[in-house]
Amino acid sequence: MSALTSANSAARPAWRAEPAAPDDASASLLADRQLKVGGVTPFSATDYPGKLAAVVFVQGCPWRCGYCHNPHLQTRTGTSPLAWTQVIARLKRRVGLIDAVVFSGGEPTMDPALEDAMREVRALGFGVGLHTAGAYPRRLAEVLPLLDWVGIDLKASWQGYDSITRISDSARHARASAEAVLASGVAHEFRTTVHPGLHSEPDILALAQTLSAMGVRHYAVQVFRRTGCMDESLQAASAGYPGADLLARVSALFETFTLRRE
Ligand code: SF4
Repeated sequence: MSALTSANSAARPAWRAEPAAPDDASASLLADRQLKVGGVTPFSATDYPGKLAAVVFVQGCPWRCGYCHNPHLQTRTGTSPLAWTQVIARLKRRVGLIDAVVFSGGEPTMDPALEDAMREVRALGFGVGLHTAGAYPRRLAEVLPLLDWVGIDLKASWQGYDSITRISDSARHARASAEAVLASGVAHEFRTTVHPGLHSEPDILALAQTLSAMGVRHYAVQVFRRTGCMDESLQAASAGYPGADLLARVSALFETFTLRRE
């Protein structure tokens, strides 16, 4: 996920891990093949439009955005902080209480177990949502048929991408993912977290025009918030940013437009 994803929820495990079963080789192998969960928010009304959802925060992200508010999820650890078997067992007890499960992160498409986890969630009757920054377009394409809704976080214009992610060639992956989402027809929201030190107003307008021309219909601008950000150089105040004129021009490009502030 991403910074924008879960703008509302810090990925601290709200569900605690239960004691592990006695270790053996097969249990260890099974754990290796399961989704690595860094935390779960059991109830959220803000992570899937119009739905009450649980949010599963998947460990790992290949990018290193300075404004990331879940930096503790960037690295994948040897063992999952919260076993997927425990997560799915608790989700079973929430059938009828929530509408959907959203996979967030970190970057959920980094995890090879994502598709199986989504199938398990779907089999319980939940809707399936995804927050992604699009770092793994091939895996995203594999799971798109399982999704009811996707929020995709685009960082900047393609030329400016690597300066945000701090990883070279990141725009190519993000662009392929964006195109896959649009081609799939899955309900979407494209989003950009904007920071006054990273995105000028002309930058934001140029990105919005690019997305509109690609066929994006639902777009959100999320103004940087300090929560969780580990980069002191990015702790700038953002009062009055972006300006009302710019926002009006961006809004006019899309069927729906949302502005999120701290
Ligand atoms: S490093 Fe960037 S892409 Fe990765 S989770 Fe953080 S904000 Fe999202």
